[in-house]
Amino acid sequence: MTAELIDGKMIAEQIRSEVAAQVAAREAAGKPKPGLATVLVGENPASQVYVRAKRKASAEVGIESYGYELSKTASQAEVEELVIKLNQDPKINGILVQLPLPSGLDEERVLNAISIHKDVDGFHPLNIGRLAQKGRDPLFIPCTPAGVMVLLSKFVPSLEGVNAVVLGRSNIVGMPVALLLVRANATVTICHSRTKNLADVCRQADVLVAAVGRPEMVRGDWVKPGAVVIDVGVNRVEDANLPKGYRLCGDVDYKEVSQVARAITPVPGGVGPMTIAMLLQNTVRAANLAD
Ligand code: NAP
Repeated sequence: MTAELIDGKMIAEQIRSEVAAQVAAREAAGKPKPGLATVLVGENPASQVYVRAKRKASAEVGIESYGYELSKTASQAEVEELVIKLNQDPKINGILVQLPLPSGLDEERVLNAISIHKDVDGFHPLNIGRLAQKGRDPLFIPCTPAGVMVLLSKFVPSLEGVNAVVLGRSNIVGMPVALLLVRANATVTICHSRTKNLADVCRQADVLVAAVGRPEMVRGDWVKPGAVVIDVGVNRVEDANLPKGYRLCGDVDYKEVSQVARAITPVPGGVGPMTIAMLLQNTVRAANLAD
């Protein structure tokens, strides 16, 4: 079997067009442009790239982005004061604090300081708590996990009773993906670094989501024939033959797994583009909630 490609780039493009249309409709109705504040603390090169990409994507759909940069020596109080100022600013609908923060800063306290109504990353404990509770709805769903669910919805129309295995239990990917799958009535197994017989557990999965940050860890014989595989991992692997000196790969061995799975996301071009598309969608939602 050769798996069908789950084209995250194309699906993200459709979502961005929809968001652009929603922004245009708001403007036509005389409503202000949605505003997104990005907060970058320090000079982590990957974070700089991500923030730049998010601001560019915002501009392309008509969202006004406001960039705030603090030095890597910024104090906890300075970061929190900025967040509180942004909470009070009516032209800002969404606040994105780029993670990870430099060591020494308390990420939990910073995320706690974000108004739940502007929490477009969906990481505020109240939003995550609501995600975990039956009958409660978060205001915002974290972007990468939301993107994973959109991709799955295109290939698995109903997740009811489906055996789903999530590799990884991080706050930003693994755990919220697992919570979303449970909400969709899948039967979910969460794996992590202490899980025994990982390959055997993965082989039970009709839907396998990998978010471990280990290059090509999931091999072809870990996957049930016909499974749908979502690879969240983005890893750099040294490759002296390439001009950059490295290549990007996921947590799944694409070559092997695409011979077994029914559908699979590529890296790059799978989950990555969805993350930004969902951020834009959350920002427009925040603006609509603020009207
Ligand atoms: P993370 O915080 O490092 O969490 C990794 C998770 O994987 C942990 O739960 C860890 O288990 C588990 N794990 C690590 N090694 C393992 C092993 N050998 N066997 C089983 N489980 C193992 O990573 P993350 O932030 O969730 O990110 C995961 C990957 O997704 C990374 O490659 C990251 O770059 C990528 N990512 C992509 C996007 C996107 O937009 N495409 C967004 C975010 C992240 P323990 O809990 O036991 O330590």
